[in-house]
Amino acid sequence: MLNDERYRKDIEAFSQLLMREYYLHFSGQKDILEISKIFDDFKDLYDNISINYLKEGVDDFPAHRKMLAFSLGLRIAADIKELTEKLENQIARSNIKINGEKIPYYQSFILMQNSGKRKERNEIYEKRLEIVKKMNSLRKKIWKRIYKVEKYYGYENYYQMNVELQEIDFQKLFDKIEVFLDKTEEKYLDGMDRLIRKKAKVNIEDALPHDVSYLFRGKEFDKYFPPNKLMPSIKKFLKNIGIVFEDYPNIHIDLEKRPRKNPRAFCAPVRVPDEIYLNHLPTGGHLDFSTTMHELGHTLHFANTSRKLPPEDKYFGDKGLSEVYAFLFQYLVSNPLWVKKFVSTKVPDEYFVLKRLEKIFIIRRYIGKLEYEIKLHQDESLENGWKIYEEALKGTTGINYPPVMYLEDMDDEFYSGSYLRAWFTEAHLEHTLKDKFGDEWFSEKKAGTYLKELWKFGEKIKIEELLKEIGYNKLNPSILIKALIL
Ligand SMILES: [Zn+2]
Repeated sequence: MLNDERYRKDIEAFSQLLMREYYLHFSGQKDILEISKIFDDFKDLYDNISINYLKEGVDDFPAHRKMLAFSLGLRIAADIKELTEKLENQIARSNIKINGEKIPYYQSFILMQNSGKRKERNEIYEKRLEIVKKMNSLRKKIWKRIYKVEKYYGYENYYQMNVELQEIDFQKLFDKIEVFLDKTEEKYLDGMDRLIRKKAKVNIEDALPHDVSYLFRGKEFDKYFPPNKLMPSIKKFLKNIGIVFEDYPNIHIDLEKRPRKNPRAFCAPVRVPDEIYLNHLPTGGHLDFSTTMHELGHTLHFANTSRKLPPEDKYFGDKGLSEVYAFLFQYLVSNPLWVKKFVSTKVPDEYFVLKRLEKIFIIRRYIGKLEYEIKLHQDESLENGWKIYEEALKGTTGINYPPVMYLEDMDDEFYSGSYLRAWFTEAHLEHTLKDKFGDEWFSEKKAGTYLKELWKFGEKIKIEELLKEIGYNKLNPSILIKALIL
């Protein structure tokens, strides 16, 4: 019989096995990813008995809501497992032909993003879209299956289920942050039009997503961020805020080159807080710095989590919370004071102008995504989704996103909303750090001590509680707006 004690033990064991499997596979140390067996071995966590048991206790035991969100997530993942595997395998096996050469779908993005020739970029882009189009029927099948599970457990629709389980009103969030669009519009359109014409040789009206990827790739700035400077710069910065790796035997930075290593950086909290991995395959350039710093934010959050917390407060919670710390570190690589101090004094101003524009762009894009996802998952028909997607993204970014991408360009569980909560909250945290420790807070030991205190909470607190901890009653969108347009 399941009870809280047993459930907690299983969460911990399950999370550890799953995270270890992900880490070993994506770091190139284990060829085949074997998730199914782990899911099968822990059926108790997400069977009907458990889900109904947790559902009953939702109003009386706060922990049950968290556990229910986790269990239903697993139940859905288990239900779509075969379809997801089929989709992943089909994509992984897909190739596109460029100049007579076969290139795997995933690699083609890197090629496209790096190509300075618009004609060549366009060719890769068109061929990638053909593959996206082919996958759409399978993606539709997956969503229809997810909608079925959610109905089975008595939820009105996928949107409503996430609002209840995550206790986040995504529509309210959208209404609150929509002002960002108005306030940044002029600066965004001016900057985007000027830079995309200069770098990608196209007007904003005609620009396509691949032009934007090329623009923000910013290859010309790579030379200031060589791979041999990556870890020394990061270590120097950490030492300044009083964090020395030698004190953290629980952190494992894996930058080793292995033939099958996935180039995407990630943090794998295998045993929180005792065994945390940061995996990355540096290829050289400024993106190495920002992605490693992003994952370092997650890594330090998990590595400093209090050991005393119950598993549900160590392994999962408000999906935006850890992203706040990740963004805080990531955007230091866009901060002239930080870059000049820890990387190079020679980085030109255009780099910082580009990074600021990129941040405005990505937040506008995610506001568009959130608007689209709310409508899509309330309606659940999936028939008009492409239209809503195209209009929402054109409206917020001015860029022509191809309607065929409407299911590919989407994460589940309203992660777009979690990212947005994190971007806006990160601005509050940075503001507090500057207020307390000065513009160069990243050189103050006290700032490190302050962050460590916040990290101790692990996944126990939600973003609203973090805001209170750092001195705010509620989220105020103008803090981020001011930081970006002044
Ligand atoms: Zn992240």
